[in-house]
Amino acid sequence: MSAEPMNDYKSPYQKISPDITCIETNYQRVGLACCYLLQEGDSAALIDTGTPHTIPTIMALLQQRDLRPEQVQYVIPTHVHLDHAGGAGQLMQQLPEARLVVHPFGARHMIDPARLAAGATAVYGEEQFTRDFGVLEPIDPGRVIEAEDGLTLDLNGRQLHCLDTPGHARHHICIWDQQSRGFFTGDTFGIAYQELTTARGPFMLLPSTPVQFDPLAWHNTLARLMAFEPERMYLTHYCAVEHPAALVGSLHRAIDAYVEIAHACSATEPRLPLLRQRLRELYLEQLRQHGCVLPEKEIDRLLALDTELCAQGLDVWLSKTV
Ligand SMILES: [Zn+2]
Repeated sequence: MSAEPMNDYKSPYQKISPDITCIETNYQRVGLACCYLLQEGDSAALIDTGTPHTIPTIMALLQQRDLRPEQVQYVIPTHVHLDHAGGAGQLMQQLPEARLVVHPFGARHMIDPARLAAGATAVYGEEQFTRDFGVLEPIDPGRVIEAEDGLTLDLNGRQLHCLDTPGHARHHICIWDQQSRGFFTGDTFGIAYQELTTARGPFMLLPSTPVQFDPLAWHNTLARLMAFEPERMYLTHYCAVEHPAALVGSLHRAIDAYVEIAHACSATEPRLPLLRQRLRELYLEQLRQHGCVLPEKEIDRLLALDTELCAQGLDVWLSKTV
């Protein structure tokens, strides 16, 4: 039960196991963000949704699998950042029986996405927001289940266990699938682009996206996830990674490295360019140690968005803490 280490992206779908499929969301570039279809008998759930542009790809997969829209019981955004939840409103319109399962802190933003749109416009700018996310559709509050910590969903007898997992965002849940011994981790177990995988395994990058990076909470969350002894993690960026016990150390170290970089830059004005530069240097150094032989230009292309978002996230964190 392992995903292919490299992906030729000829299909938007990667079957991780007979009942779990990774779906390309077509956000920014192919291979950047995915979402998942989880099937149990004649019922299904979607974990993360991509953006409004992802919906046709999701609906085509349901059709391929002979699933009617009514058979999708749950749509579960891991958190309300828009590469994960931007398509939720449109998707719910297509799936008449589905309930939206979301962290209590994210629920109101799915019901009334105006503040979410304003926040994302501040991060991405108006033009990019309109291009990537279009219009965010509101969701009927009667269809929303607030996932309190420990909530267990029943998908045709398969138990899905929702955990409150702050660190990347306070509105983040991870979903434990006992049957496959895996977590759907959203951004909580980091990012591992398949292009950066080497003989040493996936390259784990920590997304300190604005505005709720919380180092201490993140350390605790990672420890809590590992207490389940997971055998694999289904990442949104990108696809599944096996043997998370061998990867979690690099995420703990990344949290500490970010805090160190942030503190070292805290007195500089303006801070953001220096944060960007220090993060870029960190990634390049780590990638070379990891055996990555891609040219710097290609690494810059792959990590441009993350470097920017991580720098902004640390800048916001510093302004709250220092
Ligand atoms: Zn996120």
